[in-house]
Order: sequence, then structure tokens, then C-alpha cells
Amino acid sequence: MSTYKFGQHIIHSSQVFFLSKQCFGFVNLKPVAAGHVLLAPIRLVQRYSDLNSDEVCDLFLSAQKIGKVIEREYQGTSLTFAIQDGPEAGQTVPHCHLHIIPRKAGDWMNNDDIYTEIDKASKVDNEERTPRSFEEMEKEAKYLRQFFNNDNVKN
Ligand code: AMP
Repeated sequence: MSTYKFGQHIIHSSQVFFLSKQCFGFVNLKPVAAGHVLLAPIRLVQRYSDLNSDEVCDLFLSAQKIGKVIEREYQGTSLTFAIQDGPEAGQTVPHCHLHIIPRKAGDWMNNDDIYTEIDKASKVDNEERTPRSFEEMEKEAKYLRQFFNNDNVKN
């Protein structure tokens, strides 16, 4: 498979660094911090409650693996895991996904400001954070891929 659906978006496999039976992990177009990545079920469903139990298990087991790697590789000391589950919760892409973000002391003046930042950054019309180039995302995904066993992911 060379592309994955992420709501209305098409994610090319060169943006994907992690693949499990039910989920894919990919680099972010507008990360709020270095190492801010996304994890989504391969099956396109909007809400967390739409996931079946295999997908829930897979998503959170995968999140553990990815979290360990991104915390280490981006010199974090903690992690933020966030799901904006539905539009009123700030979800802009109608495909259930988990934000995984490495955290360190002093990265935001007020710790919970990260949630405002996640919300702001994903707005389509937000000009404050420019989308990254395809090449930059590809480079990061390639770097991260080496830390996982992804027999099915194209390098
Ligand atoms: P949310 O607001 O919780 O739905 O988050 C959407 C996330 O998807 C944000 O972090 C965006 O930066 C990210 N995003 C949107 N389009 C793409 C894309 N084509 N490739 C990678 N990340 C994307």
C-alpha cells in the first residue's frame, strides 16, 4: 500500500514511519513541537467510539512504542497524548487520531497551553504555522522508521 487515507487527506507512505496491523503512524504537516507525530487507525472512522476493540488495543499499544521512541529521540522527559474527539473538541480532520508530542521542562510557559496550540495549529486558515515541505516530512519519517519493525512500510 503506498497511500493511506487520513480523513480528506492522502498520506503518502514516505510520510509514514510506523505500521501495525490496524494503525499507521505518520509525521505532521504542522507540528506544534519537534517530534509531534500522529497515529491513526487504517480504517477511516471519525470518532474514538467507532473503533472496535482490536483497534483500540492496537492504537494504544502502538502509542506506547511510538511514545518511547519520540521521547528519547527528541530529548523529551514526558509525553502529551491527545485525541480531539469530534469537532466541538477541536477535531479538524474527521478521522480518529492520537497526537503524540514529546515534552520537556519549560517548553510552554503554562503547561496546558499545548492544547490551545494543538487546536490553533490544525486550523486550515491559521497562517502562524506554515505547512512543512514534503521533503522535510519525508526526511523525518525516514529517520524515525529505523526505530520500528515495519516490514510493510515502503522506505
Ligand atoms: P485535529 O485538529 O486534532 O483534527 O488534528 C489534525 C492534525 O492533522 C494536525 O496536527 C494537523 O497538523 C495534521 N494534518 C493535517 N493535514 C495533514 C497532512 N496532510 N499530513 C500530516 N498531518 C496533517
